[in-house]
Amino acid sequence: MIIIAQPDATEEQIEKIVAKVEEFGLEAQITRGESRVIVGVSGPEKLLHENPLASLAGVEAVLPAAAPYNLAAFARRGAASTVDICGVSIGGNAAVALICGPCSVESREQMLSTARLVKDCGARILRGGAFKPRTSPYSFQGLREDGLRFLAEARNETGLPVITEIMDARDLPVLERYADCLQIGARNMHNFSLLKEVGRSHLPVLLKRGFSATINELILSAEYILSGGNMNVLLCERGIRTFETSTRFTLDLSAVPILKAKTHLPVIVDPAHGVGVREFVPQMSLAAVAAGADAVMLELHEFPSLAMCDGEQALSAATLAKLVPRLRAVANAIGRDL
Ligand code: PEP
Ligand code: MN
Repeated sequence: MIIIAQPDATEEQIEKIVAKVEEFGLEAQITRGESRVIVGVSGPEKLLHENPLASLAGVEAVLPAAAPYNLAAFARRGAASTVDICGVSIGGNAAVALICGPCSVESREQMLSTARLVKDCGARILRGGAFKPRTSPYSFQGLREDGLRFLAEARNETGLPVITEIMDARDLPVLERYADCLQIGARNMHNFSLLKEVGRSHLPVLLKRGFSATINELILSAEYILSGGNMNVLLCERGIRTFETSTRFTLDLSAVPILKAKTHLPVIVDPAHGVGVREFVPQMSLAAVAAGADAVMLELHEFPSLAMCDGEQALSAATLAKLVPRLRAVANAIGRDL
């Protein structure tokens, strides 16, 4: 059970709430959120005869314990949280961030020139995969540590923090040397040992929704990372598998308001993988911002038809340059900056 205190509840009222909980032989755990205090109650709730808590002064609501997750639950903080990636804030009231870059790091020259385009278009974080989770073992698997070096060089030149995917917990030390944020890909959302490992990292983690995962399963995967002590988790909707074949996956934009109601974590949308068809990526990016996404992640390639991975969904620099002011207009329309 969770007791949500009124925003203006006094310390004395909180103490009385805790004393009442303990009087019934239950344990109270206080969390001080930005806007209010939350008291978690554990122990056999049947000890609470006729539940006297709701009528105490300073109590706004008494809720059943939030689903099977706790640290990710909105009620845990009572406000949306913000994750900082090397000075770029994502979530809460922060400006909507644009995360952009190639699907994979292909060469030093490609990474540096793409990073300049990313910077010029106003994106604030650079993406690029050095370890690629490919469906076929014969497809390009990424440049591994060389790719990480090129990403870090691009960061040093442009000042943009970098996000890159971790596929194997054994690579964590090398990724921690180069990356500013770790990405857990859709295919690894259920890799619980990897989630536990990144839960011990000092780096923020962008966790993508598995394409056959429910919203609650995504939140529970985030809970694995949070329960390891890493509170800097960002959730990413990237499309789920349905019977529809016109798009690569089906971008589930309803996940955005639902995740924001259920959790305090920032929510990112990746329309490129969700749609998989370049032509429709701009519209779905605009819709993602309208739905309340805290950041939009896009793939960009100088020559999309030559990309070694996901070229069909990569935007050209010209398309991106036209899209950014429109994304900003939508963000402004819902009271946010971009
Ligand atoms: C990617 O971001 O390039 C990627 C592989 O994404 P996902 O895990 O969502 O397929
Ligand atoms: Mn990709």
